[in-house]
Amino acid sequence: MTVMLIVILGLLGLAVGSFLNVCIDRLPAKKSLAYPPSHCNSCGHVLSVKDLVPVFSYLRLRGKCRYCGARIPVRVPLVESAAGLLFSFLFWKYGLTYQFALVGIYSCVLLVLAVIDLEHRLILNVIVYPVAIIALIADILIPGIGILSGLGGGAIGFGILLIPAIVSRRGMGWGNVKMAGLIGLMTGYPRVFVAILSGIILGGLTAVALLLLKKKTRKDAIPFGPFLSIGSFLALLWGQEIIRWYLNLLN
Ligand SMILES: [Zn+2]
Repeated sequence: MTVMLIVILGLLGLAVGSFLNVCIDRLPAKKSLAYPPSHCNSCGHVLSVKDLVPVFSYLRLRGKCRYCGARIPVRVPLVESAAGLLFSFLFWKYGLTYQFALVGIYSCVLLVLAVIDLEHRLILNVIVYPVAIIALIADILIPGIGILSGLGGGAIGFGILLIPAIVSRRGMGWGNVKMAGLIGLMTGYPRVFVAILSGIILGGLTAVALLLLKKKTRKDAIPFGPFLSIGSFLALLWGQEIIRWYLNLLN
């Protein structure tokens, strides 16, 4: 029975992933999420149900539009698969609890923020502000984080990235600072430290690797949003364990 539910939640996740792709395509262009219906970005042909089956349609059409042959970005099936795996995994970890819902929603938001930052170098206020309000309400209503821990986490996240944003004119933008504040509201104190610091470590290691492999030069800015997203995901799922492990290491 549980296996069956894990599969069903995975399928639901694939469908949610499909909606996340709509958000990723339309929010940076300030387009409505509801209208017009899904269409090919090249030829404008309205897509039918058989073109919109998550992952399956992409594979069946070999990554090309059925009507004009334009390439569908590989990001589309990747985001769908990621959301599918995420829902199955969170259900397996939490069951159908408020935590499943909350971590599920937060992870979807983090995924959308990460992909938009990768593709456009933008952290959108139209996502950050409303989700910050949702996180604040969740901190108050849902047992676990609490309003003080949430507000403290938000202030710490915002504060840690504020100084590099003021000092460096490139790289760390205001979008990252606001995103770090949002992450603090989501994770609360002290897990916000896990989120931001692991994001900084992952981003730093990746930057060094890209420099060594000569894929980037020192003048290129690397988007930081995806690393903040990964760090926050780790903090949401294993924040307490990571903090305990680190404190044991110190003793
Ligand atoms: Zn087309």
